[in-house]
Amino acid sequence: MENKKSNFSEWYNEVIEISGLSDKRYPIKGMNVWMPYGLKAMQNIDRTIRESVDSRNFQEVQFPVLITRDQLSVEFEHVKGFEKEVFWVTRGGMEPLEVEMALRPTSEAAMYGMFSLWVRSHADLPLRLYQIVNVYRYETKHTRSFIRIREIHFFEAHTAHDSYEDSERQMRQYMDIWGEISSRLCLPFEVHQRPDWDKFPGAKYTLAFDTLLPGGRSLQIGTIHQYGTNFSKTYDIKYLKDDGGHEYANQTTFGLSERLLAAVIGIHGDDHGLIFPPDVAPTQVVIVPIPSKKVDVDSFAKEVQQKLLSQGFRCTTDDRENYTPGFKYNDWEMRGVPMRIEIGEREVTSGTAVLVSRHDRKKTKAPIEDVAAWTSTILQGIKDALTDKANKYFRENMHHICNLDDLAKTEGFVIAGWCGERECAEKIEERYEFGTLGISPDDSEEKSCIVCGKPGRNGTFSRSY
Ligand code: ZN
Repeated sequence: MENKKSNFSEWYNEVIEISGLSDKRYPIKGMNVWMPYGLKAMQNIDRTIRESVDSRNFQEVQFPVLITRDQLSVEFEHVKGFEKEVFWVTRGGMEPLEVEMALRPTSEAAMYGMFSLWVRSHADLPLRLYQIVNVYRYETKHTRSFIRIREIHFFEAHTAHDSYEDSERQMRQYMDIWGEISSRLCLPFEVHQRPDWDKFPGAKYTLAFDTLLPGGRSLQIGTIHQYGTNFSKTYDIKYLKDDGGHEYANQTTFGLSERLLAAVIGIHGDDHGLIFPPDVAPTQVVIVPIPSKKVDVDSFAKEVQQKLLSQGFRCTTDDRENYTPGFKYNDWEMRGVPMRIEIGEREVTSGTAVLVSRHDRKKTKAPIEDVAAWTSTILQGIKDALTDKANKYFRENMHHICNLDDLAKTEGFVIAGWCGERECAEKIEERYEFGTLGISPDDSEEKSCIVCGKPGRNGTFSRSY
């Protein structure tokens, strides 16, 4: 396998292919096939998302994939931001369509016409809906599995509120939801308010969650948007107030995608392959029996598997014939299973099992009656270790600089004084291919701009995917 540190890009492609996550040989560029193992991992990520939003009274919906050109309301800033990236459907069978339709690039236009029918009085608010569907972008740049693709596996939450204050409360709740999801995936991140020229089209402001992949490039893995009344005015989402007047609803959205899986792969894996956090792993525990002529290893292994399954662990036994235990260890390590259990003659005789954690290969001998409790402890330990390791790399690659020339030799996040003007950001961007991630909402320290010297705040810049 490629060396992850020195050849991250090649390592990333290789590990996705050999571990069976997705197959990019499908004849349409950027539309890859989800293989069973990759799909299970993504479904586990979706489950963490669903658990977090369902517990906060969001309701799941599914809207159609087609949106008419009228629904996209061409005059609106939102659409201008998307038009070049949209797949258009222009024919039904042999007939040209009277109204062109788009494959949804995101679902504001699909949903908000319906919201205007559903929202009548302030008793209908807040409205909190989400869907997990595919969205489509006519991507012309170089595509990359789970990072830059044309058919995107997308979580989108959409809300409507009876005041701006309530929609701001929603924005804060998104931060809590995101905190839960990112910690289950063991992913470090920084929040950046995107500059106005890079915010979501039609939004008042956009907050993005940025993480860092090996090689020092940042990856945007989630966004939340405050729309205010920008969309409700376009789509006529109004509610009746107590005093008989009408008011436009305030709206927000929250978006996530399979980039979460990309970050999990890129951040946690090593030179032996994937390392899945326990909440993501399709298989959390694999039992590898070591054949013996003296004792019945297989039925002992089945007994251990039953104990773990009954406690809710995703556990399987690798009873493939014609493969050595050593081959199986490597195979499951490559596929990122967080823990394996080795059971041979000695374990059967002594009523024990050997538990091996994937990330550090540490072995623990546990009595069979305690194997579920030990599994729980070890999986939690793996989660903590992955989080610590990821945080360490993340912190080590945040660099404060005071001089433009320092950019040349810096990777990761570069933090520098910035006046907020586009002109100055572009001077930073063009010289060293950096992008402007924006300012951190929690950092109000005053700093003079590294380009023009005017007063400003800390801005964050990076090369990014
Ligand atoms: Zn400046």
